Amino acid sequence: MTRVLGNVGRGKPPVHARMSIGGQWRDADSGARLDCIDPTTEELLGTVPAGGAADADLAVRAAEEASGAWRALGWTRRAALLRDLAAAVAEVAEPLALLDVLDSGNPIAGMRGDLESTVRELHYYAGLAGQTHGASTPTGAETVSFTQREPYGVVVRIVPFNHPFKFACGKAAAALAGGNSVIVKPGEQTSLSALALAEVAEAVLPAGVLTVLTGTGAELGEALVSHPGVQRVAFTGSVPTGRRILAAAAQNLAHVTLELGGKNPLIVCPDVDPRKAARDAVASMNIARSNGQSCGSTSRLYVHESIRAAFTDALLDRVRELRVGDPCDEANEVGPVAFAAHHARVLDHIERAKASGATVAAGGSRPFGLDRGYFVEPTVFTDVTDDMPIAREEVFGPVMAVLGFSDLDDAVRRANDTDFGLTANVYTRDLRVAHRLADRLQAGYVYVNGTGRRPPGSPFGGWKHSGLGKENSHEELLSYTREKTITITLPADDPDWSWPR
Ligand code: NAD
Repeated sequence: MTRVLGNVGRGKPPVHARMSIGGQWRDADSGARLDCIDPTTEELLGTVPAGGAADADLAVRAAEEASGAWRALGWTRRAALLRDLAAAVAEVAEPLALLDVLDSGNPIAGMRGDLESTVRELHYYAGLAGQTHGASTPTGAETVSFTQREPYGVVVRIVPFNHPFKFACGKAAAALAGGNSVIVKPGEQTSLSALALAEVAEAVLPAGVLTVLTGTGAELGEALVSHPGVQRVAFTGSVPTGRRILAAAAQNLAHVTLELGGKNPLIVCPDVDPRKAARDAVASMNIARSNGQSCGSTSRLYVHESIRAAFTDALLDRVRELRVGDPCDEANEVGPVAFAAHHARVLDHIERAKASGATVAAGGSRPFGLDRGYFVEPTVFTDVTDDMPIAREEVFGPVMAVLGFSDLDDAVRRANDTDFGLTANVYTRDLRVAHRLADRLQAGYVYVNGTGRRPPGSPFGGWKHSGLGKENSHEELLSYTREKTITITLPADDPDWSWPR
């Protein structure tokens, strides 16, 4: 078998990777494969197995078999192994980050950040692993009643393409800490680093505890979420897929959590420095982290009319200074979007915005001189109205819309006027305004200033169509356990038996 880690690169022969099921490296049962394309050069980096129902079944059985011993290890040992995994990942963080840059097009600085935060997540859940206590119920002396939390056994974890390694590894941590075996299915466009995770984990975790299966959503994803051996599914991805997964998992009444899309508003109040707020708005679009392909990106900017012109000027200055190019080059802050179909989708959003009457204030097409690769210019639209698609639909690329407001109540109403509810963001120096707006904004996470700066342990998860459940928290750990109530009625006295004298 050719290992992924260390063998994928431009100018190197394509790597034909395999997946490990129950400790054995194998191809898909059907023999089918998916191409992994470098979005910067449009060249083939390698291929991965295109798994399907037979592979899903094999993996679920292997994971079931491994789960008993994993649970029986106890939380202190599991926590120690998660820390070992964190150390093993940290040791190869640079090649893993580079792998993600090649496979996804995300800038190198962003992917180094992803690796750091993955290691933090592993440590966070290792530290939390014992916090799955039950409770006792008050009873008389003749009865004992208490609850205990037990792992589900097998957890299926389906993740999207945009933060490939961080999601494949970091999003498995809570379920592993809770005593489950985990099957991860990465986005089919960026699967290489997830298979590298399987290589790293092989030396640390018992076989079958962490499995990575590669394949498409339609073939492999559906087979996994509807498998009768799976009682717990966690999904990160788009709203339409989230709906399909919820419906498929309903056949087994599996417990599902969903982390879905967003069209996140940022309300900029008149008491802030417009130049600083504008620079922060670009940072919180995650353009320099993942080319704007992040669920939490702040793509709707509501700016108070009194500072709108100054804010927009500063925003355009910052956007125009972003260097677009090969994401392996540290001098570049923006790379290509992840794959051809997504490139076409983002450009289509831009064209529809133009057709609806919005003004292109910056960007608006493929960057001049970059004829290869799935590049999109960082783009800012002005003259945007709330009903335009660019103010309502998630683009998932480096595209922002600037809107104005005069009245705070009106800004809150417009910010809330969406089916999404992932994050909402406020820039103000006034604590009263901050509290009032935070209280009224309909989103699962509200940032006041410092958008994106999430302390470990602060629950993250969307409202409305942006999701179900919370991650990055104790609540996530508990969501990978199920509660059992045990009531023991103590035997009545036996009149024929007495204490020996
Ligand atoms: P997607 O929904 O197309 O795919 C996500 C994953 O689901 C992939 O692994 C895909 O193969 C799989 N999948 C597709 N159809 C499936 C099915 N029928 N059954 C099972 N699995 C299936 O999403 P995407 O385009 O890869 O990712 C972008 C979306 O993800 C955006 O909407 C973004 O906002 C969202 N996202 C949300 C968060 C969050 O934390 N809320 C984080 C990152 C991305």
